[in-house]
Amino acid sequence: MEKLARLDLRQAITRGFSCRCPQCGNSNLYRRYLKTETDCGSCGAPVGEIRTDDIAPYFTIMIVGHIVVPLLLGLEQAASPRNWVHWVIWPPVTIALTLWFLPRVKGSVLGWMLWLGMRGDEQH
Ligand SMILES: [Zn+2]
Repeated sequence: MEKLARLDLRQAITRGFSCRCPQCGNSNLYRRYLKTETDCGSCGAPVGEIRTDDIAPYFTIMIVGHIVVPLLLGLEQAASPRNWVHWVIWPPVTIALTLWFLPRVKGSVLGWMLWLGMRGDEQH
């Protein structure tokens, strides 16, 4: 717990965004796409115990929506392309951005929770 008290919030979030251990940044956070390692192989941080639940998809939807919707509206206003052009561009862009952001946002949230000393299994 002494290590956790010295953890810098900004560093924990940026390390998590890089899909690295939020505490030390030395090892991969994920075993597979969104499956975290049980513990950090380098510092032993219990990254696998921390449950981020729905907050990572929630933030990801918010981020991707704030990127895609203005671009879509900007294209529509600038060029008014036919509908099929929108259908060709925006679904793949939305899916690609979502898949790219989701593990990074989850890592950031995990870093934030680690900094707070939360594990996601707190009883209220
Ligand atoms: Zn670590």
